[in-house]
Amino acid sequence: MSEQTKVTGIILSVYPVGENDRRLTILTKERGKLQVFARGSRRPKHPLFGVTQPLIYCEFMVTDTRNYTYLNSAECKDYFHFLKDNLEDIYYSSYFAEVAEYFTMEGQDERNILNLLFVTFLAMKKKLIPLSLIRRIYELKILQFAGFGLQCFQCVHCGNDEKLIRISFEDGGMLCSTCAAKGQGREVDPSVLYVLQFVSSVPLNQLYSFALKETIEKEFEWIVNRYFTIHVEHKFKSAEMLAIL
Ligand SMILES: [Zn+2]
Repeated sequence: MSEQTKVTGIILSVYPVGENDRRLTILTKERGKLQVFARGSRRPKHPLFGVTQPLIYCEFMVTDTRNYTYLNSAECKDYFHFLKDNLEDIYYSSYFAEVAEYFTMEGQDERNILNLLFVTFLAMKKKLIPLSLIRRIYELKILQFAGFGLQCFQCVHCGNDEKLIRISFEDGGMLCSTCAAKGQGREVDPSVLYVLQFVSSVPLNQLYSFALKETIEKEFEWIVNRYFTIHVEHKFKSAEMLAIL
């Protein structure tokens, strides 16, 4: 009998396998992204039925074999019921999970992205800032954790940290007034630059702690969307659902 180990994490996605089984992708504290097979869990009376659903936070007991990891039992710590309140919340939380799945790897330390998901869900619960803004903050932050952070404190060409007035999406950062003289990039309002810098540097527990004037918010969202689209050549299925909201 192989040994059991405990992992803790959020179920990002669930796929049916065969007649009765499910394959889960879990973002764990201990082992990064982890694929786990839950045998029998599609049978409604099976003990794993209720704890093998997307977007719940559990402690899992798993067993590794040569090729696969199997789920033995799970204890749910948080069902995040508020994420399933309405269609908008369902679509947004599915999108955040899909993006997290895309950016994380097996066997790596992915606690930053796990914690980012937690604070993002918490922000969705509090409803202090709009979901569209939460989305762009999340995208900017996850790019940073994945190693594609926007360079917003220095000029991406010369390293100058003053007079950062334009952004070059292709080069991944701000341009100073000298380097921007050739007209490259897009102009960035100082308030928007401040928001970009704030999101890039603030501790996670303060990430969703600000509100913005509508014009600044729209500009920030536009810039992050453009940056994300250029640097992530992947079509997220759940993003299509967000587009029709
Ligand atoms: Zn420069």
